[in-house]
Amino acid sequence: MAKAKKVKKEKKARCAATTKEGKKCKNSASGKSKFCAAHKKK
Ligand SMILES: [Zn+2]
Repeated sequence: MAKAKKVKKEKKARCAATTKEGKKCKNSASGKSKFCAAHKKK
């Protein structure tokens, strides 16, 4: 029997910010923030 490793899929929320082009930010939100590190406000 093969042991199937269960990989927990973390729910990585996508950054809620949009670029100036109107596209959604590709980055994933960091931590509890809705935004990635680049868009996260201080
Ligand atoms: Zn972002």
